[in-house]
Amino acid sequence: MIERLPSPRPLSEIASYHAHVYFDGTRARDMAAQLREQIAARFAVRLGRWHETAVGPHVAPMYQIAFGRDIFARLVPWLMLNHAGLSILIHPSTTNPRRDHLRDGLWIGRPRALLADRLPDHTDEPDQAGEVNTQPEDTAII
Ligand code: ZN
Repeated sequence: MIERLPSPRPLSEIASYHAHVYFDGTRARDMAAQLREQIAARFAVRLGRWHETAVGPHVAPMYQIAFGRDIFARLVPWLMLNHAGLSILIHPSTTNPRRDHLRDGLWIGRPRALLADRLPDHTDEPDQAGEVNTQPEDTAII
């Protein structure tokens, strides 16, 4: 007998998305800084702190972009075209951060390692996109 798929998970499990932009080395760092400015000029998102050293489950310097479900369909294809060789992890934020990062995310550019033991397998409060802290220009070309 064939194995049955579990019942589909509803999209309502996704509270928001993160994009983690990794940079190591001077050139990648410069590219990541320019990309951050380009994103800020184009998308209503929450740009997270700039981390010069690896934090949490991440093994390279990075910054995070938190965004709502309504932004996904424009931001993610834009990052596909404009990541400039940088590694970017896109993942949903649900009540299971470990599964979100390790199993259910997608990579643009070269996939990176993640430290699984730094990722809890349950949180009562999935990450919301938070307050938008960019001011996209109406004239920016997306
Ligand atoms: Zn994340």
